[in-house]
Amino acid sequence: MRGEFDLIDTFFKRPLQRGDVLLGVGDDAAMLRVPPGQELLVSIDTLVAGVHFFPDVDPRTLGYRALAVNLSDLAAMGAEPAWATLALTLPAIDTSWLARFCEGFYTLARDYNVALVGGNTTRGPLSITVQIHGFARADLVFRRAAAKVGDLIYVTGALGDAGLALHLMQSGIAECSEAHRAYLRARLDCPTPRVREALGLRALVHAAIDLSDGLYADLGHMLAASGVGATIQLAELPQSEAFQACIQAPSVASMLKVEDALPWAELMLSAGDDYELCFTVAPGRAAAVEAVLKEFYCRYARIGVIDAEPGFRCVHEDGALYHPHRSGYDHFSAMPSA
Ligand code: ADP
Ligand code: MG
Repeated sequence: MRGEFDLIDTFFKRPLQRGDVLLGVGDDAAMLRVPPGQELLVSIDTLVAGVHFFPDVDPRTLGYRALAVNLSDLAAMGAEPAWATLALTLPAIDTSWLARFCEGFYTLARDYNVALVGGNTTRGPLSITVQIHGFARADLVFRRAAAKVGDLIYVTGALGDAGLALHLMQSGIAECSEAHRAYLRARLDCPTPRVREALGLRALVHAAIDLSDGLYADLGHMLAASGVGATIQLAELPQSEAFQACIQAPSVASMLKVEDALPWAELMLSAGDDYELCFTVAPGRAAAVEAVLKEFYCRYARIGVIDAEPGFRCVHEDGALYHPHRSGYDHFSAMPSA
C-alpha cells in the first residue's frame, strides 16, 4: 500500500450497482441523479474514537455502525437510502483494519442497496464520518413536527438493550448469561436500522424520530417540535428477553440503582443507541400500521398517546406518575472521555 490513493483504489473503489450514479469514486465530485418527483434527503454522523466508541472496538463493528446510524436517520424520515460518502481520518494505514472496516460497511451497504460514491481520507486521530443521501416524496416525509393530539405512539423493537450493554461492559459484571450479554452487546454494536419498516409505513405515519439518545430525549424533541405532550405507559415499554433477565441480576440492579429510581425504567427511557423508530399515527391507522410491521416480522409496542398538554408524562398501570431521574443514566457521562 503506497499511500492515500492506493488505499482508496483498494478499499473504496468498487463496481457500482446503482444506475443513478453517473460518476462515483475517482473524480473530484460524484454526479448523481435524483428520481423525478422525489426530493433529496441528506444526513451526516461522525463517530470519534474515545467519544462514540472504545478505541479497541472491532473495526467491522465501526464500519457497520457508521452506516447504520445514518440509515436510521433516513428511516426516521421515511426516506429510501441511495448513496453514501465517507470521510475517514486514520492514524496510520492498517490494511487489516481497513479490510475489517469495509466488511462491516459494505455488508450493510449491499443489504440496503447503498452505493459509496465518494469521500475523503486523511491522517489524524481515528474518526469516521458518513453522509447518507436518500429519496422521498415531499408529502410522505415523516416530520418531527407532525404529531397530532390523539395520535398513538409506537416504538419498534425493544428499548434499553444498548444502554444496558454499555453498563455491563464498563462494570465488567458477568452475572448474566453469556448468551444474554452477547445479545445485548450485538444490539449496541450492530443496531438494525428500521429502513424497510419505515418505507412500509409511508402514508400511515404522522411524526417519527429514531431513538439515538433515548426515548425521553428523542420523543421530547418530537413533542417540542409538534407543540404537544405525551403520556407514556411504563408497563408497555418493550423489553427484550435478555434485558429482562439481566436487569434482575442483583449486581446489575445494585449497579444501576439511583435513589428511588427504577433501573429498568431509567434505562428504557434515558439510555441511547437503540436506533429503534418512535412514531405517531392516527388511531384509525393503527390496524394498518400493525399489519405492516407484522409483515416485516418487526416487533412493536404501542406505548402511549399524544396529548394537548405539553410535557412528557410516564404513568404506572395504576395511573401514578413516575418521574424519570434521567441524569443518573446520561450516556455521555458513561463513555470514556476523548
Ligand atoms: P480531491 O482531492 O479532488 O478532493 P481526493 O484525492 O480526496 O479528491 O479523493 C479522490 C477520490 O476518491 C474522490 O472521488 C473521492 O470522493 C474518493 N475518496 C477519497 N476518500 C474516500 C473514502 N474514504 N471513501 C470513498 N471514497 C473516497
Ligand atoms: Mg479535487
